[in-house]
Amino acid sequence: MNRRGELVVVSGFSGAGKGTLMKALVQKYDDYSLSVSMTTRQPRIGEVDGQSYFFVSREEFEEQIKEDGFLEYACYCENYYGTPRSYVDRQLSLGKDVILEIEIQGAMRIKDKYPSAILLFVMPPSGKELRRRLIGRGTESIEIIDKRLSRACEEAEGIEAYDYIVINDKLETCVDELDSIIRSAHKSVFRNHEIIDKIRTELREFQKEEK
Ligand code: 5GP
Repeated sequence: MNRRGELVVVSGFSGAGKGTLMKALVQKYDDYSLSVSMTTRQPRIGEVDGQSYFFVSREEFEEQIKEDGFLEYACYCENYYGTPRSYVDRQLSLGKDVILEIEIQGAMRIKDKYPSAILLFVMPPSGKELRRRLIGRGTESIEIIDKRLSRACEEAEGIEAYDYIVINDKLETCVDELDSIIRSAHKSVFRNHEIIDKIRTELREFQKEEK
């Protein structure tokens, strides 16, 4: 039986290590495709256009909005971020689970539009550790780190809207945990109506034959 692709939304505070986690997940398991977002933020050192993000101007981003090119988009710390629609549609039709590593407003839009999406929230082991990681990566100024920490405070209020939380303590363990959560979610009753209907029909047929 072909497995139908699902949207898998992964959110988490800036600095929680989602990016590293998602890369490790798609490298280890073949069932997943990682969506590359479009953003108006400046590239960080080491980020590659088309791999980390599609880096575009505000005008280009707004043009895409007009053309309905996004599955969802949001403004985060004064920059636009959005999920290009075409890649996601293609991968889903190939039966891949598509991972959207997006912030909470975008996650809520996906949840509204695609009720079968699987929503995961990645957390650091503690608030103190989050701050340490944000400062440690050395890619943002203290001012931006403060903005991201205050945004984390707001985001923490929305965690109940997600289906699962995952604590990112040890990378390897966390990757396997994510994979097993997604696999289990595929088995949920509400994602398997077709199988259930099929067996019901077959059983009814047996009953008819016996009469
Ligand atoms: P960063 O600037 O640290 O790469 O990303 C900032 C935030 O934007 C992160 O929480 C990240 O998950 C989120 N983000 C990245 N791409 C998208 C997207 O396409 N849509 C939305 N809504 N958020 C995104």
